[in-house]
Amino acid sequence: MRSKIVAGNWKMNKNLAETESLLTELSAKLPDTSAEVMVAPTYINLMEAVRHLESSAIEVIAQNMHFAQNGAYTGEISADMLLNIGVETVIIGHSERRAYFGETDAILAKKVKTALSKSMRSIFCFGEELEDRKADTHFNVVEKQLKNALFSLNANDWSKIVLAYEPVWAIGTGETASPEQAQEMHAFVRKTIAEAYNDDIAANVSILYGGSVKPANAKEIFSKPDVDGGLIGGAALAADDFVAIIKAI
Ligand code: PEP
Repeated sequence: MRSKIVAGNWKMNKNLAETESLLTELSAKLPDTSAEVMVAPTYINLMEAVRHLESSAIEVIAQNMHFAQNGAYTGEISADMLLNIGVETVIIGHSERRAYFGETDAILAKKVKTALSKSMRSIFCFGEELEDRKADTHFNVVEKQLKNALFSLNANDWSKIVLAYEPVWAIGTGETASPEQAQEMHAFVRKTIAEAYNDDIAANVSILYGGSVKPANAKEIFSKPDVDGGLIGGAALAADDFVAIIKAI
């Protein structure tokens, strides 16, 4: 059975004191939910976040990691370093990593393989740009991203994969894909996985939607049958908004 997930990607926001304060508020306000709740603070505050949430149901996850085991990769963080501080899930392929840090499908495929080799869970992000949607090539673009990065995985590997459909034109822009557009793409992704693997894998993979999810639109987006939750950027930075989104699932 696939799980419902609400994950907050804090990006390059919140210093240590602000991280502690947001986590304290979130823990205090966390509603009863069957969904998995995750937060991704910046690297430098991950260890403190893990400590802070030791007895909480909220999971601390990473925003990125390198594909290499270790070595001369100045400024990078390895899977083992994350596991060593208790972080077992990592976001891979966020559109900002693709756009600003040159992360190609080939690099992302390596990152996913490394995560799997360490039994880490990946939240793999994909999604089309505005021009792709205007040109009506968004399904092709998404299919290619998934094929290039994920379709050489073994069937068993998929239990460690969560997908996040994030149309680039909807990230941080205030533009949201309509619930129908999200559903249409999520159903397409499930069909594509069923064709490449089988119905079981397609039915069991959680597919999150990300792109300007707010308390005001979360319920309608989450009501769609193939939407299993959200990857939340801006609205994850305020406890009340994030809690309202969790309540919407
Ligand atoms: C994101 O960056 O993953 C995201 C969905 O951001 P926002 O919610 O701010 O659009």
